[in-house]
Amino acid sequence: MGDHPKKYVELSSSHTDPARVKREREKARELRKTRWWLDQVNRGVCHYCQKKFPASELTMDHIVPIARGGTSTKGNIVCACRSCNRDKKLEMPVDSLFEQLERERREREGKDDV
Ligand SMILES: [Zn+2]
Repeated sequence: MGDHPKKYVELSSSHTDPARVKREREKARELRKTRWWLDQVNRGVCHYCQKKFPASELTMDHIVPIARGGTSTKGNIVCACRSCNRDKKLEMPVDSLFEQLERERREREGKDDV
């Protein structure tokens, strides 16, 4: 694996490829078992509101959702409290919103051959 031609990676339609989404979800599940994740949860700080929470209140959250091309890597996975995890879908930071729109625009333009 890992020897896909570069073009494959650049195709943004692959973001919603069910196989990729499944793979990233599995990676997230694996990460959840790691010492690294335990440390995140034990620190108990929500990435978004920076408040402290008991471990039971924290959820694993992808900064860039998998369906938007995000990956299950340590850089993209954070602890979020329940309310931040829920609110994020409605209230995205402006920067990532722009990024998302730009990505979707490119995605549409690149779909001529579909
Ligand atoms: Zn929070």
